[in-house]
Amino acid sequence: MLKHYWVAFFVVVSWAVSFTVLDASAGDADPLYRACLNKCGETGCVGQRCFPHCNSSSDGVSVDGPWYVQEPLYQQWKQWDCQSDCRYYCMVDREKEREAAGDGPVKYHGKWPFKRVYGIQEPASVAFSVLNLVTHFHGWISFFILLYYNLPLRRDKKTYYYFASLWHIYALLSLTSWFASAVFHSKDVDLTEKLDYSCAVAILGYSLILSILRSFDVKDDAVRVMVAAPLLAFVTTHILYLNFYKLDYGWNMQVCVVMAVVQLLLWAVWAGVTRHPSRWKLWVVVVGGGLAMLLEIYDFPPYYGFLDAHAAWHATTIPLTYIWWSFIRDDAEFVASNQVKRLRNSNVAKKAK
Ligand SMILES: [Zn+2]
Repeated sequence: MLKHYWVAFFVVVSWAVSFTVLDASAGDADPLYRACLNKCGETGCVGQRCFPHCNSSSDGVSVDGPWYVQEPLYQQWKQWDCQSDCRYYCMVDREKEREAAGDGPVKYHGKWPFKRVYGIQEPASVAFSVLNLVTHFHGWISFFILLYYNLPLRRDKKTYYYFASLWHIYALLSLTSWFASAVFHSKDVDLTEKLDYSCAVAILGYSLILSILRSFDVKDDAVRVMVAAPLLAFVTTHILYLNFYKLDYGWNMQVCVVMAVVQLLLWAVWAGVTRHPSRWKLWVVVVGGGLAMLLEIYDFPPYYGFLDAHAAWHATTIPLTYIWWSFIRDDAEFVASNQVKRLRNSNVAKKAK
């Protein structure tokens, strides 16, 4: 019953997400917006506003081709500045016209019309990404302190919690991906977009591996490698595909949704069968994470040009991350104390012989 619920839930989510992805370009398909962009590309101006970066980049450097083929990065950066200024002010003007005509906002290049703050494209998403990063950092540090200062250690000063190193890698990947998310939402160009997508895929793939290893309590290194290798190979191939072949949003969304569904299912089923003292925290994160994904379905435009559904989604993961690290700390305590008890019992048994 539970399984059916989740499968149905994620079919709906993936359908809605793919729908919003397909529907993303209503704004930039608008001929008036297109005309404005073309004019801005030629003159470097939108209305009375002219952009210095647009003038200096028109010296014969090709605008086409991926970023890594184009030699001088500063030239590329100027083009990015020019392109984003043109897009932004054409969008602002077009949205004003639409508002005057009584029309609601539409998306441009897959994003709602946001107000810039100090050149930052989506300030709310950037702020929440940074807060997610800080929450992960806090969680990781407190996990570290618990492991090495508060819990019993082996004679060789290693922890009894045999998932510790996996969570350390998880923390590093999470910090990197929230950093990439903050950069991407600050300035959306080809490079930052690919970085953000690659990091998101990497952390999703890695946490899928972790969910399998933890829920099946895999201790043996050889088995761990056997589980991780095919998944790592797939995730690496997928990231290379996105970066060097085609940034296929629809396909990427399917891959991400499947990886998210499988790990949420695993945690949910495990939370249902385990006697873990903190399983309720797992439930909160699984249900909360599922509900948070609803925000991607009700993809509402930004309030006052700031808080849209995506930013709200990034906001909801902050408390979930806090609870998640609290679960990880509880898990460390639970597993370590079981290990210590087991060792004590086996010592007692040995002495009795
Ligand atoms: Zn984001």
